[in-house]
Formats: sequence, structure tokens, C-alpha cells
Amino acid sequence: MQLYNQSKRKKEEFIPITPGQVKIYACGPTVYNYFHIGNARAFIFFDVLRRYFEYRGYDVTYVQNITDIDDKIIAQAIEEQTSFEDIASKYIQAFLDDSQALGIKPPTHQPKATEVMPEIIELINALVEKGNAYEVNGDVYFDTASLPEYGSLSGKKTEDQMPGARVEENLQKRNPADFTLWKRSKPGEPFWQSPWGEGRPGWHTECVVMSRKYLGETFDIHGGGIDLIFPHHENELAQALALTGKPLANYWMHNGFLNVEGEKMSKSLKNFFNARDILEHHSPEAIRFFFLSKHYRSPIDFNREIIEESERAVENFYSSLKSIGFVENSIVEDNSLSQAEQDFIAAMDDDINSAKAIAVLFDLNRQIRNEHLPRTQREQAALMLVKLGRVLGFFQNLESILQDSVPDLSKQLMELILAYRAQARAKKDWAVSDRIRDDLAALGIEIKDTPEGCTWSIKSKH
Ligand code: AMP
Ligand code: ZN
Repeated sequence: MQLYNQSKRKKEEFIPITPGQVKIYACGPTVYNYFHIGNARAFIFFDVLRRYFEYRGYDVTYVQNITDIDDKIIAQAIEEQTSFEDIASKYIQAFLDDSQALGIKPPTHQPKATEVMPEIIELINALVEKGNAYEVNGDVYFDTASLPEYGSLSGKKTEDQMPGARVEENLQKRNPADFTLWKRSKPGEPFWQSPWGEGRPGWHTECVVMSRKYLGETFDIHGGGIDLIFPHHENELAQALALTGKPLANYWMHNGFLNVEGEKMSKSLKNFFNARDILEHHSPEAIRFFFLSKHYRSPIDFNREIIEESERAVENFYSSLKSIGFVENSIVEDNSLSQAEQDFIAAMDDDINSAKAIAVLFDLNRQIRNEHLPRTQREQAALMLVKLGRVLGFFQNLESILQDSVPDLSKQLMELILAYRAQARAKKDWAVSDRIRDDLAALGIEIKDTPEGCTWSIKSKH
């Protein structure tokens, strides 16, 4: 598998630290508001990366943090006239709800920054003792000049470059690139006790602590959107290198931006749409399809018409499955379509080329629809469409969607049949009642007698 590695600025063969295992850390949200659909691009991409590794048989540990203490959270608390804890817990819940609604699989671990305060203080202390950090008036800064490798990830040492980068202005610092590890709290602000007085940690330290805690000193993949390369990931890496001389991660992966008219969608530019609002108009699968039909490193322009088209593409997959009466677990996979699977793997192995992988899904879809092909081949294509689609996170609620699709007439006929059966049972005509049950079973329709009446479901066509 080839992955683009930001630390080498090229695609490289992926070699896990431990064969068969992959450890991934993706930066999660700062919970001061609902997340927007640009953030969703990052969350969906890393969800797909994780799913693909799982599909390839890796034992995956996937960590996504939650930044639950930050200047922006404090500012929002002031605005909503409440505590920072209330803001954090409100938007953590919203984040979890919206992630679930988008079909994002819960990470293996989802640590919060406030849960790792002792480890944060310990790490900053170690950096101060090693001479890589200094304290001024209760603030602690990383001394970038103390680390010759500083800048190796982004190719930058100072803040004048990366669009959208979050860099601090501060005259106390020895060097403009020096960044905050610990920040003294102002009166009324939340604080934790530390050797440097009352304060709170810097964002870059939170992530380096949480990733090392769950994944070890060096893990396989660290990721986030491209805005995080500098300064966030550069600064995480700097702390790890200063502490151990070893890189924090072997591969650094970054998704491109979701743009609005050529500009990054962001809270600060106020050109954003919250994921939950978009979900009121579009299905989660259409949103996923919209992102995955482009390569993850390419920028994407937010475009409702293209999301609409994505909706139709996904609906088309479902209607193809319905058209051949696809029922989960009713078809045994043979190897006749291994070419499609190989093409899918080749696409995904090429730096997660989901756009090409989706082209394989379209090809399978055409086969399902092709009435000139033998039914068995069309069924195999359906099976493969579902199997490979799921690697990208589609078809998570397949059964209920297909079930809902039973045409009204069929539903009415079923009601009629079950009414006749109920009459037979009332007359204790067990022969007729059992015959109806068995004949339906032969058609793959299972009926159950419950105290509330008789229910039915489609189990299998055979
Ligand atoms: P934040 O809460 O701002 O730290 O963002 C959470 C994740 O979303 C990070 O990985 C960001 O890089 C990513 N992100 C933020 N804005 C965008 C955008 N417009 N397009 C793609 N990813 C983004
Ligand atoms: Zn982070």
C-alpha cells in the first residue's frame, strides 16, 4: 500500500511498525460549537482510512481526541454565560451525535484533553528539564531554536506562511516560532495547578500527550486536515523529537480542504455550514459519496448540486439492489468477481484513491442492471457492490432500507394472506395455517406469531 507521507513529501510503501497492526491518531474537534461540513471531510476521510485497513485484515487502533479546553471554548462560555465544562459537554454530545449520523464508526479511543492533565504537566516538565522549554511569568514555551529538526514536517520554521495556520503573537517569546506549552490563566478562567502556577495546556501539547498515551512513543499514522501541518503537527513532532529523538509517527497524512468559492470553509471566515444542518437536506451517504468521489488530498468546492448528484448516485445503487431483490446473506460469494475486488484494492492501495474505487462500484452497478447477464453474475455483482461499498462506509443500514422498499402492493398482499391465515387459526384449521406459513417460508418470507399479532420479514429468496 502506498501512502502520501507529508514528512517525506512523497508517496511511500506503508510498512507498519508491528506487522498486521496499525495505530492511527487523527486530530479531533475543538468542542466550542457544532462541527461544520469541512470538518466532516476530515472525520470521514480518516474513518475510511481506518475501515480500509480493517478490510485489509489489520488490527487497527484508531484514536481521535477531543480538545475540551481551549481559548475558543472559554470565549464561547462567556458568550453563552455558562462554564467551559457546560460548553464542552454540550458540543461533545453534538459531535458524537453528528458523527454517528454521518456513519462514522466510533474510534477505539476518544480521549479528552482534560483527562490527561497529569501526563501533560509531566511532559512539559520533562521538556523544561531537558532545556527545550522555558518559563516566562507562568507561561511555558517550547524553544524552537533548541531543536535543529524543527520545521522538517512542514518545511517551515516561522509563521508567515501556511494559510489558516493558528500561530500566536507574543512578545515574551525568545523566538516568534516558539509555541505555548502551558498558559497562565487569567482571573476567572479555568485552571489546573502546575509547577509554573495556575494555568492550562497548549493545544499542541494536548495532542502529543494523548497520542503517546494510547499509541506509544512512535506510532504509524498521524493525520488531520492540511491546515494542521503547520504549526500543530510540526509542534507535536517537535515535542516528541525533543523528548525521545524519535519521530511521533512514521506517516503524516492530511486531507485537503472543503472550500467555499475557493476559500477554506472555516468558522472564522463565517462561510461554513454545520454538518447537522446539511444532514437535514442530504443523506449521510450522499455527503460521504460527495467527498469520496474526489481524491482526499484534492481541494473540493462545496456545491449543493454535486451533493444532489451524489444523492442520485447512491439512490441508484439502492434501486439496483432492489431491482434484483437483493437480500443480505442470501447469496454465497464465489470468486467470479475477484477482478472488481482487485481493482478496488489497487485503487485504494494507491494512496486511498477513493475516486477510482467508486468507479469500481459504478461498474458493478452496471452489471447488476444488465439484464443480458446471467442472474448469478448480477447477484455476485450486487454482493460485491455491498461488500466494497461498506469499506467506504456505505450500506450501513442496508437491511432496513431494502425492507422499506417492499412495494405497497406486496405489503397489501401480505396483509391479505396473513388475514386469511388468522381466520384459519381462529377456526383451529391448523393445516391451512401451517401450509400458509410453510409456503411463505419457501418464498423466503418468515412469519412470526406474537402476542400483538403476526409479523413478517424477508429472510432469503432461496
Ligand atoms: P478543528 O476543530 O478546527 O481543529 O478541525 C477538526 C478537523 O477538521 C481538523 O483535522 C482540521 O484540519 C479539519 N478541517 C477544518 N476545516 C476544514 C476544511 N474546510 N476542509 C477540510 N478539513 C477541515
Ligand atoms: Zn491534534
